Amino acid sequence: MRDWSRREVLGLSVLALGLNASAATAQDLGARPAKATGVEVINPRARVPLSFIIDDSTCLVNLAHFCIPQFAEVFPTQYRQHWKTLPREIPDAFVRKFGEWCHERGIKGKYSVIPYPACVGWLDRDLPGWSRKELRQSLELVRTLMMPDWDIHPEMVSHTWAIDTKTGRPYPERTERFMENWGFSVGKSPDEMANYLAFALRILKNAGLRCEGVTTPGGFGSRSRPSLAQGTLDACRDVFQAEIPHYFRDLYTDDRSVAPIVQLASGLDGSDPRCVVSIIGCTGDWFGGWDGLTPGNVDLLITADGKGGRLPQVIARGEPAIMVCHWPGIYYNGEEIGFNIFKETVQRVHAHFDMVVWMKLSEIARYWAARELTAMNRVNDGVQFVAPFACPGFTIRLKSTSNVAPRFEAATLTESKSLATLTPGSWHRKGDELTVCFDLPKGRSTLHV
Ligand SMILES: [Zn+2]
Repeated sequence: MRDWSRREVLGLSVLALGLNASAATAQDLGARPAKATGVEVINPRARVPLSFIIDDSTCLVNLAHFCIPQFAEVFPTQYRQHWKTLPREIPDAFVRKFGEWCHERGIKGKYSVIPYPACVGWLDRDLPGWSRKELRQSLELVRTLMMPDWDIHPEMVSHTWAIDTKTGRPYPERTERFMENWGFSVGKSPDEMANYLAFALRILKNAGLRCEGVTTPGGFGSRSRPSLAQGTLDACRDVFQAEIPHYFRDLYTDDRSVAPIVQLASGLDGSDPRCVVSIIGCTGDWFGGWDGLTPGNVDLLITADGKGGRLPQVIARGEPAIMVCHWPGIYYNGEEIGFNIFKETVQRVHAHFDMVVWMKLSEIARYWAARELTAMNRVNDGVQFVAPFACPGFTIRLKSTSNVAPRFEAATLTESKSLATLTPGSWHRKGDELTVCFDLPKGRSTLHV
């Protein structure tokens, strides 16, 4: 069973069990400012965000090789892959090749680093099977090459057996209730959830990595959503003082919105505003599968003419087009099938769409938090903002017939002849419709138009 389908199937099982689906999946949004009339926050620089979510990555360990026998202990008929034939390592030479290719093209996203992958070793201590020097070099590669363009997430502690955070050992019971992917998170209180997530985050902090969010392994959290949201908010603030924590739990490939959901907002006009953002993927793993044995298909993402496939649909809706893959499938046991599909996808997207922008998940989370939570007041000569969070490239649209160049605070903004060249500190007019892009500071500020 594919990792991504587990994400969906567990959502459906709520219905199958006859539970109240809206109660089980209810998202507490928290506070919202009053909506301003006549001002609309649009996408950053009027572009559709793109992002690439990579699950199941870590240092050196090929998770598929090590997790399959552990999954098979609980689900013997479902996990019959010949895991011993899969390489035990995804080499750093491949991380470098992939990371450099993406960096040259401005590609951004999320890269999981599982702290205790399939219980093989602790990334902040030892990784049996590899030398200490190899582990150090691998972490250094993540820090220097990946971290600038990719959010680093723990995908909980092991992605397999749940860990007793009091002892650091896996629980002895060998059932799905003690697997992170399946039952472990069910029934956990927000505090218990925060404790578990903080345990994972601290290992990565010890290893010199910074995180502002988490990724749920498989079905983790799907039956304890309120605790997942609150636990993420508390754990990321506690361990990393993250201002806007976020998490990746869901992907939808149907008609549902894939816009991020800003949850548990509070204290919007005080000194300690809070929220957590649920980031939603818009594709299945159509690259190389979670086990590196399931070839994907680029046409499901985008066809050669740029008209078919999932990405054009989502881009047309103006919602973030966030693709989802698994690292073993990108490497594909050295064949790089997933990587090749991704390369072709990127080439096709850029050939057919220019109003797009690659963003990290944390950048998307910040933009959506500012979009939803900034109070805006239309006044005579412009708009007043009360922003709980600063936001680079904040972009608004309003009606204005004035022919004076807009000013943001004291700075006069520059005209952009087309939307395509809109950058922070500039504006574009089309008829009486004015689009303005600027770096929004935290707190009070004013745009004069
Ligand atoms: Zn995973």
